[in-house]
Amino acid sequence: MPKLFKEKQDCCGCTACMSICPRAAISMRSDEKGFKYPFVNEALCIDCGLCLKVCRFKHKTDEKDFQVMPLVYAAKHRNEYVRMQSSSGGMFTALSDHILNKNGAVYGAAYDEDIVCRHIRATTKEESASCRGSKYVQSDTQETFKLIKKDINNGKNVLFTGTPCQVDGLDAYLGKGSNIENLLTVDFICHGVPSPRVFLDYIKYHEERSKKKIVEYYNRCKDKGWGHTEKVVYEDGTFDCTSMFSQSWKYLFYANVMLRPSCYRCPYTQIKRCSDITIADFWGVKNSKPKFGDEKGISLVLVNTGKGKEYLDMLHGDIEFLESDIESCISMQGCLKRPSSVDPKKRQQFWTNYHTKGILYVLKRYGRNNAYGRIKRYFTDKDRWFAHLVEHLFQVKKRFKRGRCI
Ligand SMILES: Cc1cc2nc3c(=O)[nH]c(=O)nc-3n(C[C@H](O)[C@H](O)[C@H](O)COP(=O)(O)OP(=O)(O)OC[C@H]3O[C@@H](n4cnc5c(N)ncnc54)[C@H](O)[C@@H]3O)c2cc1C
Ligand code: SF4
Ligand code: SF4
Ligand code: SF4
Repeated sequence: MPKLFKEKQDCCGCTACMSICPRAAISMRSDEKGFKYPFVNEALCIDCGLCLKVCRFKHKTDEKDFQVMPLVYAAKHRNEYVRMQSSSGGMFTALSDHILNKNGAVYGAAYDEDIVCRHIRATTKEESASCRGSKYVQSDTQETFKLIKKDINNGKNVLFTGTPCQVDGLDAYLGKGSNIENLLTVDFICHGVPSPRVFLDYIKYHEERSKKKIVEYYNRCKDKGWGHTEKVVYEDGTFDCTSMFSQSWKYLFYANVMLRPSCYRCPYTQIKRCSDITIADFWGVKNSKPKFGDEKGISLVLVNTGKGKEYLDMLHGDIEFLESDIESCISMQGCLKRPSSVDPKKRQQFWTNYHTKGILYVLKRYGRNNAYGRIKRYFTDKDRWFAHLVEHLFQVKKRFKRGRCI
C-alpha cells in the first residue's frame, strides 16, 4: 500500500492523489486539527503507484521547476462596485467575467450556507460572485480537479483560482494528456491557510454569543476601506463589523499558530510561480504609484506565462493597469520570499490550549481578544483609534447591561 507522506508537513492536501486514483481508494479525512489528509483504503488499492507519482509537494524544493520571472502590474477594476466587493483591486472578477462571457466555467473558493469554505464550479456571474473575496481558511476542493478535467476535455474554457499548492496539484493531476490550453490558472501570494476546524468553532461561538445565525461572513469587507475589516451578517439582516469579537479571526490568522503544517515549509513562497497569473494586494502602492493608489484597493498582478499575458491583454476594457516591478512590492510581501513562521513551541502550545481550553481561550491568548490587545489596537491603528475607543465604550456599556464582561 502506498505511503503518501511521512510527516504531515509534507502534504498540502491538494487532492491530486485522490483525484488520480483509478480505484477511488483514496478519501480525504480531517485530522484532530481539522486539516484533511489522504487516507488509502487497503481493500480497494491495487498498488499502481499513480498517487505517489502525482504528488509534487513533498519533492518540491527547487525554484528552477517554476516559470520565468514575472511581469508586474498594479491593477484596478473600472467598476467601483466590483472593487468594493473584492479583497484588493478586483482582478479575479475581471478574469472570471471574461471566461464566463466565453461560456466557460470558473472554479473558486466560496463560503456555503454553514460558512464552510469549499471550491465551487460557477457558470454564471451570480455564482462566481460568491468566490469574490479572500477566505482565510483552507478551502475544500472536493471533486474539483476531476470536474475541471471533464470541462477542458469537453472544450470549455476554464478558470481555476486557488492557493499555489492547489494550482500545482491540479497541474500535476492533469498532466500532458489533458487539453490544458483551455485552462487558465490563477494563484495568489499565499500567507498560509488556517484550520477549518478552528474557524468553524469560531463561527459557532460567534452565533452562540450573539444568539443569531450567521448567514454571510466576509474576511475582508471594505466598509472601512481597504484593509482587514471582518464582517458577519446575521439572519435578521443586522451585521457586525465593529465589535472586538468580530475582528478576532484575523489576529489568530496572522499569529501563524494554526496554519496547515505544510505552510511552514511552503516551496511556493517565491517570485517564480507555478500559475499563469498571480494576484495579491499591492500594499504600499502609494509609495511607487501615488496617483494610482487609493483606499478602495489595488491588485498586484504577476504575469507568469505567455498565456497569462494574452488574457491580461484582453482585460483592458474592465481593468486599468500600470506597469510596475518586483522592487516596488516585495518589501510588503514576506510570502514572496519565505514561508510564514512561528516558534514551533508556541504552535504546539496553541494546539494543546485549543484542545483542552477551547476557542475562547485561544482567541484571548493568541487573537488579541484581551485587554492588552485592545489597548495595543487603539494606539497602533493611528487613523481610527479614537473612533474605536468611542465604539468600544459603547460596547462595554452594552455588555455591562447584559451582565457580560468580555
Ligand atoms: C489564505 C489566503 C492568504 C493570502 N495571503 C496573501 C498575502 O500574503 N499577500 C497578498 O498580497 N495577498 C494574499 N492573499 C490574496 C489576497 O487576499 C486577495 O485574494 C487577492 O489580492 C485577490 O484579490 P482580488 O480583488 O483580485 O480578488 P477577490 O475578489 O478578492 O478574489 C479572491 C480569489 O481568491 C480565491 N480564494 C479566496 N479564498 C481562498 C481560499 N481559502 N483558498 C483558495 N482560494 C481562495 C477565490 O476563489 C477568488 O478567486 C491571500 C489570500 C488567501 C485566501
Ligand atoms: S498529492 Fe497532494 S494531497 Fe496527495 S499526498 Fe501529495 S500533497 Fe498530499
Ligand atoms: S496505488 Fe493506485 S490504487 Fe492504490 S491508492 Fe494509489 S492510485 Fe489508488
Ligand atoms: S502556504 Fe503554501 S502550502 Fe500553505 S496553502 Fe499556501 S501554497 Fe499551500
